[in-house]
Amino acid sequence: MTAAKQKITVLPGDGIGPEVVEAALRIIEATGVQLEFERREAGASVFRKGIETGIPPETIDSIERTRVVLKGPLETPIGFGNRSANVTLRTLFETYGNIRPVRELPGVQTPFTGRKLDIVLVRENIEDLYAGIEYMQTPGVAESLKLISREGCEKIVKLAFAFAQAEGRKSVHCATKSNIMKLSEGLLQHTFEEFAPRFPEIEAKHILIDNCAHQLAMRPEQFDVIVTTNMNGDILSDLTSGLTGGLGFAPSANIGNDVAIFEAVHGSAPDIAGKNKANPTALVFSAAMMLRHIGEGKAADEIEQAVLVTLESGIRTGDMMGTAAPASTTDFAAAVIGNLGRRSSVSPPRDYKKVAMPVSPAGVNVVATSRRRVMGVDIFIETELEPPQLARELTDVADAAGVRLQMITNRGAMVFPSNDRDVSLVDHFRCRFIRHDDGDLADAAILELLEKVGANYRWMHVEKLQEFDGEPAFSKSQVR
Ligand code: NAP
Repeated sequence: MTAAKQKITVLPGDGIGPEVVEAALRIIEATGVQLEFERREAGASVFRKGIETGIPPETIDSIERTRVVLKGPLETPIGFGNRSANVTLRTLFETYGNIRPVRELPGVQTPFTGRKLDIVLVRENIEDLYAGIEYMQTPGVAESLKLISREGCEKIVKLAFAFAQAEGRKSVHCATKSNIMKLSEGLLQHTFEEFAPRFPEIEAKHILIDNCAHQLAMRPEQFDVIVTTNMNGDILSDLTSGLTGGLGFAPSANIGNDVAIFEAVHGSAPDIAGKNKANPTALVFSAAMMLRHIGEGKAADEIEQAVLVTLESGIRTGDMMGTAAPASTTDFAAAVIGNLGRRSSVSPPRDYKKVAMPVSPAGVNVVATSRRRVMGVDIFIETELEPPQLARELTDVADAAGVRLQMITNRGAMVFPSNDRDVSLVDHFRCRFIRHDDGDLADAAILELLEKVGANYRWMHVEKLQEFDGEPAFSKSQVR
């Protein structure tokens, strides 16, 4: 009896997607590895049919069965309307870790050629601003919630160290903006610092994200593995791919506990779509990561080596620097197929070990506290009043409700108590009310205050000011 073939869901995607995915599939098939591809739809064509998520049920069914996806880029409607189908896929299948490796490639000239860059970016993939929780709080002020959980931080930090161990890497940098976003970005930094001592063989360093970008442009060879939050990782990974030849070479794996999705870092590149010009390397390397993931390491090595040999022999698509007569996507794929079985003279196959995926407990994950209290409340209101008048009126409201008006800010700048500096104002104020003593501000008291505020002002958002185990669980205002 022959063993059942491993099934793979294939999403050709939008723009250059079908061209680069087809190239990768031809190369995989040429290795002789026995796979069964289930081609499914996602992205622009699905949005056009009126399916709001961009992912039809047949695609979801297929992924639930196969658990492994090779996907082309999916176009995202910009600005208004539908959510990104990419983000929906990652969230739906909880692929929380996005692994994006780049390295110096033979024959691909960059300003860093000769510096042996070999960097892996590990990006948290489902939290942060990408949850897409947004509101227009007033007709002129938008809000986007940046939610970072301890659970999410633990998973991505453990994955980064597990990955570094599996690849025998020397260091992991954690890149955050914790100097400004002390609680959200800070949570990743603190989690990283807590877990790092469990991996004494790996050097662990925290770096601020802006400095990380600067260091990547100046001395990128100092980086090995970088772990970071979703938004930072999105931007930094395009930067790291730029260091080694561009988006045409940068593969990625979206890893979850159950499902793994392999795709290029690049998007649908509409400017070159349908022209047989796209560089398929990123998708082909992503396919090699997929083969390794399903236990076909030999075929993965063979494909990577064939791409390297192809590059060494001077065959390049148009995105590579210094090309006189670029190869088409199909020519490049044919050259790779012709080079299967050959070995690169400069970059031998590596020894990969399976990444020990972090296991997290099922059910609702809780960070326990022994003491908590609500010491006050921030009420966000929309008004055209000038701050001195607003402060006078709200002080009266606070007195009547038995609390104290502690401060008012406008876009983060303190306008009460005033520091006598001119601040350009919008009609959106955060008004902080706190208890006079160290007791707990009960919901009934908050509702009473809200009713009094709401009698004269339009409020749109309320945030409790909590204390966990004696520590304030909110940011102080930025005094300007
Ligand atoms: P992009 O599609 O990555 O393309 C940016 C530029 O990079 C292209 O115009 C092209 O530049 C070059 N490029 C990218 N991939 C290439 C390849 N394989 N071969 C040769 N050149 C390549 O970024 P974008 O234009 O910002 O995004 C276009 C759409 O893709 C958007 O709807 C976006 O939301 C979506 N997107 C999807 C994903 C995903 O599915 N994971 C990721 C990113 C973006 P030149 O030809 O000008 O040199």
